[in-house]
Amino acid sequence: MSLSGKVVIVTGASSGIGAAIAQVLAREGAQLSLVGRNVANLEATQKTLLEKFAGIKVQIVTADVTKDADVIVKKTLDKFGRIDVLVNNAGILGVGGIETLDIEAFDAVLNTNVRGVILLTKATIPHLLKTKGAVVNVSSCAGIRPFAGALSYGVSKAALDQFTKIVALEMAPKGVRVNSVNPGFVVTNIHSAVGIVGDEYQATVQRAINSHPMGRVGDVFEVAEAVAFLASSKASFTTGALFPIDGGKHNFTPK
Ligand code: NDP
Repeated sequence: MSLSGKVVIVTGASSGIGAAIAQVLAREGAQLSLVGRNVANLEATQKTLLEKFAGIKVQIVTADVTKDADVIVKKTLDKFGRIDVLVNNAGILGVGGIETLDIEAFDAVLNTNVRGVILLTKATIPHLLKTKGAVVNVSSCAGIRPFAGALSYGVSKAALDQFTKIVALEMAPKGVRVNSVNPGFVVTNIHSAVGIVGDEYQATVQRAINSHPMGRVGDVFEVAEAVAFLASSKASFTTGALFPIDGGKHNFTPK
């Protein structure tokens, strides 16, 4: 097991990609703080882990990444006494381009996807320095390349990618690695959360299928496996990397 005994914080573990990350990290032997705001969904993730992985040590931390960084760190230290890996997965989508931009919605996206990541990383770094640990950020293909109509989300993920690269440079001499995964379209609740449902959702999925050179969308576990790799010592010489998990979409040229 590549993460045997390692203590990992996973934000957004109550749904979608984060719940899958929790499962794969548990399979690899990690001890987990599962972070999110929805208690029932966090309990569902925890229940799955307890059923599938005998002896796993896992706790729920009900917290908002935009304001509870200290709570997340304290509860993890209280329970496990150390932090080896931070997975900044919690994130929200923003819809619309410059002409329809709602600046309050823009602020909310940046607050969660960028400022929240910065606050929790800053609070965690002193403990990662002690363990020579790692940070894995869940960014997006939208950080690597622009998509018209995804203004706030694309800006947030591009900022996150620059954050990954800068902190990786700062931490490299000190033994802490910082990387990101950059998924393409993955079926989760992230789209319905911003009202993309029904026919609009089906059309969005079809556009995604057509824009991924592999001709399909991704699965949450395909992202989770990459996160587990970057979190582990298997990636011991990798830092500041943006790892596309997108069926080739980051190189796709529309016809
Ligand atoms: P989901 O909507 O399924 O999950 C989002 C998670 O983020 C939930 O667990 C939610 O928890 C958590 N979250 C959101 N805001 C906060 C907050 N303020 N504090 C704590 N937790 C929060 O989406 P995905 O699984 O798809 O998204 C996970 C990550 O993957 C995001 O960063 C997203 O940008 C990225 N991504 C997703 C893609 C996709 O196509 N699905 C593609 C590329 C990247 P709760 O509701 O309990 O607070």
